[in-house]
Amino acid sequence: MSSSLPFEIRGSAIAGQGAFAIRPIAKGERLIEYTGERISHAVADARYDDESMAEHHTFLFAVTDRTVIDATHGGNEARFINHSCDPNCEPEIQRGRVYISALRDIAVGEELQYDYAYERSGDETAEEERRYRCRCGTARCRGSIMESKATYRKRLRAEAAKRAAKRAAKRAAKRTSKRTTRPPARKK
Ligand SMILES: [Zn+2]
Repeated sequence: MSSSLPFEIRGSAIAGQGAFAIRPIAKGERLIEYTGERISHAVADARYDDESMAEHHTFLFAVTDRTVIDATHGGNEARFINHSCDPNCEPEIQRGRVYISALRDIAVGEELQYDYAYERSGDETAEEERRYRCRCGTARCRGSIMESKATYRKRLRAEAAKRAAKRAAKRAAKRTSKRTTRPPARKK
């Protein structure tokens, strides 16, 4: 545990414990790396059966389609940073590692938060909506720790466009390779 952190962990009005600034923090400052065991989504799903948990209380951070960081194992103080729909921090992913940085200047005593924006799968049940209900209490609260439905639709469109572009590039590559095929050697 580092003693030079710009925040401390104590009881929070939002949820259990939270991270509070103990010195002024400047916009853009990198506060801490989100550490933990790196596992696959399949392992994370097997490890934490959401159905059996009334409230979500795992410390998981989805880094990529392949990797999840489980801060329950090898996690540090970053796992106590709560969610907010109007946050003062944001996660930054750099070469597969996750850092929590300040979105704006933060005063001593302010609670640090970032937007968890859990990815939707599009088939959330009422039960799941309840489990991921947000109580951040900010004016911008969207009512859910999950990404907004608009963000979800936008992400789907972006992913579809990416797939289409990939297919088009593949087709173009095929055409090119056909053109560059060497003509049959002529007989002398
Ligand atoms: Zn909220």
